[in-house]
Amino acid sequence: MQKPKLGISTCLLGENVRYDGGHKLDKYLRDTLGQFVDYVPVCPEVECGLPIPREAIRLVGDPENPKLMTQKTGIDHTQRMQSWAVKRLDELERENLCGYVFKAKSPSSGMRDIKVYNEKGLPTGKGVGMFARVFMERFPLMPVEDEGRLNDSGLRDSFITRIFVYHRWRNFVTGDASIKGLVEFHTDHKLLIMAHNPRTLYELGSMVARHKQIDREVLFSDYLALLMKSLKLSATIKKNVNVLQHIMGYFKKQISSDEKQELLDVISSYHQGLVPLIVPVTLLNHYTRKYQENYLLRQVYLHPHPLELMLRNYV
Ligand code: SF4
Repeated sequence: MQKPKLGISTCLLGENVRYDGGHKLDKYLRDTLGQFVDYVPVCPEVECGLPIPREAIRLVGDPENPKLMTQKTGIDHTQRMQSWAVKRLDELERENLCGYVFKAKSPSSGMRDIKVYNEKGLPTGKGVGMFARVFMERFPLMPVEDEGRLNDSGLRDSFITRIFVYHRWRNFVTGDASIKGLVEFHTDHKLLIMAHNPRTLYELGSMVARHKQIDREVLFSDYLALLMKSLKLSATIKKNVNVLQHIMGYFKKQISSDEKQELLDVISSYHQGLVPLIVPVTLLNHYTRKYQENYLLRQVYLHPHPLELMLRNYV
């Protein structure tokens, strides 16, 4: 399987493209996640024609529709950035990205809480970086994060899980894209959805079941929209415990009472924050393989992303 493609702010890969001629290398993104994805670097300021180094810029005016202006000389780069972005978004559409990592706090690339100033240079509110805004408007379902938030292990796990789900979805829709394939896709993701949003699991299931009454294009786009929305909700410890107990139920006839007790103890230790999620998941994966439980063998929940990323190894 091809690796998922991720858009990324170029400076995060260590390229000297910042206004001061420097970079903002993020070693985790380049060296660790970079082994499992292919990056498509984007530097809006340099690609729209600004030099390196350059005068620093900021957002000015209405936070909902700010201008992009140089800090000291007040040169307005809004038109330049917007015209470039239209063409670049078309190119990015053809790249079939499965996610994007933005540079936090940048007036061009930042996806949230970017300071907006008035004409006198005083901060008046917060907005979204100019390129990040148009990107998110064009690709509203695509998983996006900034490198600052990815330092939070829960947000990192959630983001990378969604990238791989989006990647599998892209493979499905560019592959056979059949109703049978949709049923299989949904089956594979059931426990993962349950861990994030048990309520929408039922809704998604009924959408798939009513496939004959819904136009296929509408069905696929509605399914993806609800799926990505569901996965944005955190998989809390409580919801994970619920899924782990559910999985355990598949082995009630095969495993001994000792083994059952051991599983219950491990799940309870996870519940109390004494061991990370990977511990009960590893034990359940062991029984899944041992007893060749077909429904569980296909569950993405038991292997949502490469083990080497160690996203479930934190307490
Ligand atoms: S934050 Fe964005 S615009 Fe600024 S240097 Fe990095 S990639 Fe370029």
